[in-house]
Amino acid sequence: MSLTVVGSIAFDAVKTPFGERPKMLGGSAVHFALAASFFDTVRVVGPVGDDFGDPEIAVLEARGVQTADIERVAGGKTFFWSGVYGWDLNDRETLATDLNVFAEFEPKLSAQSRDCDVLFLANIQPDLQRQVRAQCADARFVALDSMNLWIDIAKESLLAAISEVDCVILNDAELRQLTEQPNLVRAAAKVLELGPKVVVAKQGEYGAALITQDGFFSLPAFPMADVHDPTGAGDTFAGGFVGYIAAHPDAPLSQELLRRAMAYGTALASYNVQEFGTERVARLTSAEIADRVAQLAEITRFTAEPLALRD
Ligand code: AMP
Repeated sequence: MSLTVVGSIAFDAVKTPFGERPKMLGGSAVHFALAASFFDTVRVVGPVGDDFGDPEIAVLEARGVQTADIERVAGGKTFFWSGVYGWDLNDRETLATDLNVFAEFEPKLSAQSRDCDVLFLANIQPDLQRQVRAQCADARFVALDSMNLWIDIAKESLLAAISEVDCVILNDAELRQLTEQPNLVRAAAKVLELGPKVVVAKQGEYGAALITQDGFFSLPAFPMADVHDPTGAGDTFAGGFVGYIAAHPDAPLSQELLRRAMAYGTALASYNVQEFGTERVARLTSAEIADRVAQLAEITRFTAEPLALRD
């Protein structure tokens, strides 16, 4: 069993009302890989520049993430993203997206990365996602994330990429923008028509919804009193969600399995937002994840007692 992820490997500059970091390790593939490393062997595919050093690689390798397919481009600069959050942490402004080494990137996967059981196409240019998808023809489960930038500037490529995967994980606002449907249930149904069997709508601090042909499920975010930086929460959620599926190679993609995967994604994302960037997840333990999944089951449990309502 193994899980391959392609996506951004980045330096992020982030400012929130609770602090700032001018240059920290980030990127969709990095956040995803750290979270998914609790479930399976994860291989990261993507380029970095000369500025990406051993300390950054060490964060991934400390969690057992396989970094052989991280390509170091001589003379290049690592992808850079900068964003600022207001008091409403669901609302962020992107200040800069510098593709740098991603502008010329042509994914060449090693035999081990191509041979993956599960593939995650983390947020990056959709044509790159498609190139990697094509190289992993035998993957039994392929999921994809994206963002408003690619809907704005590469929508046709993104729609083609979506038609080639089993699962789409997007923010609710992105699902609406992509499908031009103001209603989330209808927006998800439109994505299912494109081919995927599973749609996950991430709703920031309000949690996430799961939509398939046979059902709907929703989980709140884990209630957190102290949130410092939501950057990477979506990718960390995806790492828990897809990682859980990767850890069950023989199980059918039932609602039950997918609902538990949602719980693991939610638990992991809740740790991610506690500190900046990868800081908290990098020192997370499996016992802490299990603890939060159990608490999540408890806080979402209720019994529907019959009550004679008045007509
Ligand atoms: P999230 O908060 O889950 O949306 O993910 C934030 C991460 O995505 C940051 O670590 C960024 O480096 C990365 N990111 C931001 N914009 C892009 C983009 N256009 N393409 C790929 N990765 C991005």
